[in-house]
Amino acid sequence: MGSQKKPTTLLTQAKIAARVKSLAKEIAANAPRSITVVSLLKGSFVFTADLIRELSLQGVSLEVEFLGFSSYGNSKQSSGALDMYGELRTDVSGRHVLVIDDILETGGTLAAAKDMLQKAGSNSVSICVLLQKNIKQKPSLDADYVGFTVEDKFVVGYGLDYANKYRELPYIAVLDK
Ligand code: 5GP
Ligand code: MG
Repeated sequence: MGSQKKPTTLLTQAKIAARVKSLAKEIAANAPRSITVVSLLKGSFVFTADLIRELSLQGVSLEVEFLGFSSYGNSKQSSGALDMYGELRTDVSGRHVLVIDDILETGGTLAAAKDMLQKAGSNSVSICVLLQKNIKQKPSLDADYVGFTVEDKFVVGYGLDYANKYRELPYIAVLDK
């Protein structure tokens, strides 16, 4: 892992910022004025930080909670085995929940999170992802809000990692195999 390849830019910082703003407008047009945001760690922490401030500018007040999910380990292939860590410390019963994730691929991660939040008594669960990967297999659930659709390549940056690296890149890039 010593020599890091330079990833190729796919979505610039400016393009992401513009889309986060318009996503917040879409969400604010549909969402109640008060929601609980559940951000799935670690990949969505940067997106969440930007999106909640844009939501605030759109008049949405919110609480933020984090849940940890990990399916990739230190590889570029999903292990299939979903590891959930952390627990929900906020009572979501009767609340409108917006789940935020970095990228929707098979939908396994989000389906597990949605199921858990419904069982916890939430009033509604909507899903917002920054990216949706264009894969052959149909995902097991649909996101209500999608920032960008991307080709089936491994992407990093803006919170997304490869073996815990590259999360700090202010843009999204493709990491060559
Ligand atoms: P799913 O459960 O929908 O198959 O997988 C979604 C999760 O896999 C995402 O939350 C993310 O953690 C990870 N993932 C999927 N594709 C990529 C990718 O291209 N890059 C990175 N860094 N993570 C990915
Ligand atoms: Mg994830």
